[in-house]
Amino acid sequence: MRNILMAISGPSGVGKGTLVKELISARTDVAVSVSCTTRAPREGEKDGKDYFFLTREEFLRRAAEGEFLEYDEHFGNYYGTPKSFVRETLREKSVILEIDVVGALNAKKVFPDCVLIMIVPPSAEELKKRLRGRHSETEEQIQTRLARIDYELSQKHLYDYVVVNDALESALSRLEGILDAEKRK
Ligand code: ADP
Ligand code: 5GP
Repeated sequence: MRNILMAISGPSGVGKGTLVKELISARTDVAVSVSCTTRAPREGEKDGKDYFFLTREEFLRRAAEGEFLEYDEHFGNYYGTPKSFVRETLREKSVILEIDVVGALNAKKVFPDCVLIMIVPPSAEELKKRLRGRHSETEEQIQTRLARIDYELSQKHLYDYVVVNDALESALSRLEGILDAEKRK
């Protein structure tokens, strides 16, 4: 069984973070890459666990030094994947990147074996409900995120797998099935 790199994308609020958290606690052979960001922490988020929260200056310094496997700007903030963490962790475990479509496609350019998985909602209404139910964004931030949904979903043909996050348990077991099948290849 090999260790694989998987990129998980999908519209904001679809449940990526929830699924990844469940997967990590269910399996000892998988780790999640902690990205760096310049956005402010949401309530309950911890530095080094959810993200490494950096100032804009620090982020741009690291980017200039080539420390990111890929990085991008979303909603006015930078987000990037630390290259060294991914390379080192892959020696022991499979690694999950929780990134947007552009980031995932850029990661695939650097790591052609990267498995791309798109998480989609059971319906647009359910997605809006989850995004609002999280109570972590202002109405303006919600509108910006909603405006990006169609674009993200229109890119799903570029992905290796599409997983519908309907009931959490079923989506999780489909994700584990993909992981196991790819590890056996
Ligand atoms: P993302 O990381 O994709 O932005 P989150 O993991 O923060 O999304 O999930 C958004 C909201 O939807 C959270 O409140 C989460 O508890 C809820 N959620 C996630 N998966 C499901 C599911 N399968 N059914 C119902 N609610 C869900
Ligand atoms: P959020 O602010 O909701 O945590 O994330 C906003 C967006 O940034 C999401 O689409 C998420 O997938 C994306 N993102 C998170 N980490 C990274 C990263 O390291 N690189 C890129 N390109 N996007 C990321």
